[in-house]
Amino acid sequence: MDFKLSEEEEKRRKEFFEGCKELSKEKPKDFIDGIEAEYEKANQPYITRCRKEFAKRGWLRLGWPPEYGGVGSHMDRVFFGEARGYYVLPGVDIFGIEMLAPTLLAMGNKEVKDRYLPGIGDGDTLWCELYSEPNAGSDLAAVTATAIRKGDEYVINGQKTWTTNAHNADWGFGLFRTDPQGRKRRNISFLLMDMKAPGITINPLEYLNRMHMYNEVFFDDVHVPADQIIGEENQGWAVSQALVNFERSNVLAVSAVGRLLETLVEYCNETKVGGKPLAQDPFIRNKVAEMAVEIEASRTLAYYIADQQNRNQLAALFESSAAKVFIGDIYERLGALGTDILGSYGQVSASRWARQRGVWESMYQAAFVLTISMGTNEIQKNIIAWYGLNMPRPLSPVSVEKALATAQAAK
Ligand SMILES: Cc1cc2nc3c(=O)[nH]c(=O)nc-3n(C[C@H](O)[C@H](O)[C@H](O)COP(=O)(O)OP(=O)(O)OC[C@H]3O[C@@H](n4cnc5c(N)ncnc54)[C@H](O)[C@@H]3O)c2cc1C
Repeated sequence: MDFKLSEEEEKRRKEFFEGCKELSKEKPKDFIDGIEAEYEKANQPYITRCRKEFAKRGWLRLGWPPEYGGVGSHMDRVFFGEARGYYVLPGVDIFGIEMLAPTLLAMGNKEVKDRYLPGIGDGDTLWCELYSEPNAGSDLAAVTATAIRKGDEYVINGQKTWTTNAHNADWGFGLFRTDPQGRKRRNISFLLMDMKAPGITINPLEYLNRMHMYNEVFFDDVHVPADQIIGEENQGWAVSQALVNFERSNVLAVSAVGRLLETLVEYCNETKVGGKPLAQDPFIRNKVAEMAVEIEASRTLAYYIADQQNRNQLAALFESSAAKVFIGDIYERLGALGTDILGSYGQVSASRWARQRGVWESMYQAAFVLTISMGTNEIQKNIIAWYGLNMPRPLSPVSVEKALATAQAAK
């Protein structure tokens, strides 16, 4: 890939940054920033304003084919993500826009695309992801919620958990066991469903401060039309893997940390300790510069993934995992660096002693979720080892027993 942007690309990138800058001027003073901003009740009017503006400009259809009203390329998607991240703008439903839409485009049939893409591209429908269960997180293929085919419907029973935004979503996509006796990974299907369907119960899982982002979702004989399956019956694992790939290759966080680093640099330039600006301290300069280099490297990785996806939508499996681990790690370390540099001020947010609106304390507390959501970093490292580095998978206990028995027999 040629990392130098063409004149046309530079121009497009600038348009996204200018559009987002304009919209950021309308951000209410009491807007609650942070990883959960998209789901805060009080933020909703501004979130809707942003979503509608993005839809009007066609920015929710970036990289889509023209027959679905698509504009621009995957690279534009990256530029838009960067601009939104930089100005910390909400209004993009990551489940519909970032995950489901590219998956439908790559793997859905025409009927399904015609039915669901317009609502996503117009910002009219919100989606949620029904993957995790109490006993199926990292080992996602262990899902036990069932979808049993009866005539031209599936009947769903079971439970999902950690479902972000299920309480606001119009639609959900998820993994359900369609062949309870079948082999693992060959017994699961990927289904879309109306979240208002009878038999669905959504219970909030609130934070200690009562913030509501996640939910438990229960299914009690929920009827879903059979044509809401994506891909073949019992082949949902492949669809889910394509989807998580899109989920992890998001550049938004790269840009958000870039902006935060700028804020930290401002603080170091303005704050004097012992009569000298912090920015003159060689230790601080070194740490901040290291962070800037790593952020730049993660931006390059995000561009590379977008370029691969431009050529083939299903490309960049382990690179997406690498990007996810890398940016999550940077986020955590930048949080730690910021709180370190601010010293005692870095430990408060809702206080008159808070500096920079208390962003460092809340960032430090929230950063770790990025190492869990979208599949934990340990699981991503396994993917990188297996698919990126061709390293062998560890033997399961059963295989170890078999290998030992074979070795014994050979003696
Ligand atoms: C902010 C956030 C939002 C989320 N939103 C959603 C959502 O909308 N929809 C949804 O379906 N889910 C969602 N989740 C759930 C998320 O996908 C799971 O938490 C994640 O996949 C981990 O599963 P688990 O919590 O069951 O942990 P476990 O799988 O129980 O893992 C526990 C620990 O063991 C480690 N581990 C497990 N297996 C291995 C292995 N083979 N090798 C090495 N280490 C291993 C893990 O890395 C982890 O550290 C969300 C989570 C977070 C934090």
